[in-house]
Amino acid sequence: MVELKNSVINLKMYINGEWKEAKGGETRPVYNPATGEVITYASEGSVADARAAIFASRNAFEAGVWSDISAQERASYLLKIADKIDEYADELTQLETMDNGKPLREAGFDVADAASCFRYYAGLIRNPDGQTYHVADPMQAMVVREPIGVCGLIVPWNYPLLMSVWKIAPALAAGNTIVFKPSELTPVTPTKLFEIFEEVGLPKGVANMVMGAGPVVGHEIASHPEVDMVSFTGGTKTGKHIMKTAADTMKKVSLELGGKSPNIIFADADFETAVDYALFGIYAGSGQVCSAGSRILVEESIYDKFVERFVERAKNIQVGPGDHPKTEMGPLVSKQHLEKVLHYIELGQKEGATVACGGNRIVDNGLENGYFVQPTVLVDVKQEMRIVQEEIFGPVVVIQRFKDEEEAIKLANGTVYGLAGGVFTNDGAKGLRVVKKLRSGITWVNSYHPTYNEAPWGGYKQSGIGRSLGTFGLEEFQEIKQINVNLQVEPIGWFSN
Ligand code: NDP
Repeated sequence: MVELKNSVINLKMYINGEWKEAKGGETRPVYNPATGEVITYASEGSVADARAAIFASRNAFEAGVWSDISAQERASYLLKIADKIDEYADELTQLETMDNGKPLREAGFDVADAASCFRYYAGLIRNPDGQTYHVADPMQAMVVREPIGVCGLIVPWNYPLLMSVWKIAPALAAGNTIVFKPSELTPVTPTKLFEIFEEVGLPKGVANMVMGAGPVVGHEIASHPEVDMVSFTGGTKTGKHIMKTAADTMKKVSLELGGKSPNIIFADADFETAVDYALFGIYAGSGQVCSAGSRILVEESIYDKFVERFVERAKNIQVGPGDHPKTEMGPLVSKQHLEKVLHYIELGQKEGATVACGGNRIVDNGLENGYFVQPTVLVDVKQEMRIVQEEIFGPVVVIQRFKDEEEAIKLANGTVYGLAGGVFTNDGAKGLRVVKKLRSGITWVNSYHPTYNEAPWGGYKQSGIGRSLGTFGLEEFQEIKQINVNLQVEPIGWFSN
């Protein structure tokens, strides 16, 4: 097992440049989802701990130790962080697999992407920004971008390192100070990231990490008046709660929420390519991916052939512990989440769906203590069923049929979500036409899942508000100020006396 520097007793929180146990001394076990074993213990922070982190962050912001330094200087810290992520890549990869369960191959991609994200924002903030306007003499008008202040960042467990970095890198690049909360299920790689922040000498109080239950610590971050913005990734239900909570102090809110994304396969698509990407779309990350292609819509003339081939290949997916070299799909993140996914499979059958393959927890070949579920396919589904409408967040896909382009678009847009969507066709015009009709923020033609630090990530409808990554992701963490300068300093003379 990989050792954590500060994990002798527990994972500590990082507040004002110091590693702290929870004020109450409480801890919570952190499990390896492949074995059910306890890996370590994480500090169970309280409202008092969250407040300490918020005040540290506020003091650092007001002192200007980060917001007032040049973009060049901030960028040099971000570049050092990226280099350290590369230096510790093997360790981070193994830790991510141990804590989240994902195969080493997936974890390795996340780690490389995390370093690249810091480098991207280090470069971006040295670009020109702001605007000037021609207005009536003798005024000079301009617009500048400024940090928002103290940013509360709350992240989930499906990409423990990468989701942290998607928020932390642009928030810090923009000159904010941060109060960060990892998921209690997966605090290990975020802790390692904060060890890196300490190692590169980030000024005290700029980046603070507090652990603890979402409804306690997360709620305090979302409600506290000294937090200027809250950026959250996670479930839509929690996102709605955070939005309501943040409304009382009129915080800026950025939300990356769930999805039930359609993957549309037309009869003229390259068949094997479509099957291959459809498998990748749902089973990568064991389906615990916000953009997962969890609804496959297939044109009726190839429906039976597609289901047959998809099922044949789904059955061959090698499910096992993430650190096993042959593993292609890992476990679910927790026992509680395993139960939720199994509940949905049962519910689907009660609603009238048929299990075409999978459908069960895996309890043999040494996997019985882990949280493994077979790659599962549900057919005979109707649009109004809960398994079609709700995010399952596991290796469970529904395959629906459609008769023409119009029906495909209608079904695709027929949920409350609007995160992602894919279209497979060899007709270029049709591919673009259909993608343009999707009410989704992230789309692919003849592909599924690739994402880039340069491109905005986020959803329409109940999949969220705002965007991560790209220039848009930096702007999320910036205020906009207009500055009007009088170039001829004399009274205006509006009033006569
Ligand atoms: P949540 O959305 O509840 O958790 C995400 C983060 O929010 C965690 O850090 C969590 O803390 C925190 N949190 C929870 N409640 C609050 C609150 N009241 N105020 C502030 N922060 C809070 O995810 P769950 O683990 O409960 O998963 C539920 C479902 O959400 C999943 O089954 C899936 O459908 C969806 N989901 C979607 C994700 C996405 O990327 N779109 C990612 C994860 C989940 P804590 O550590 O205590 O859990």
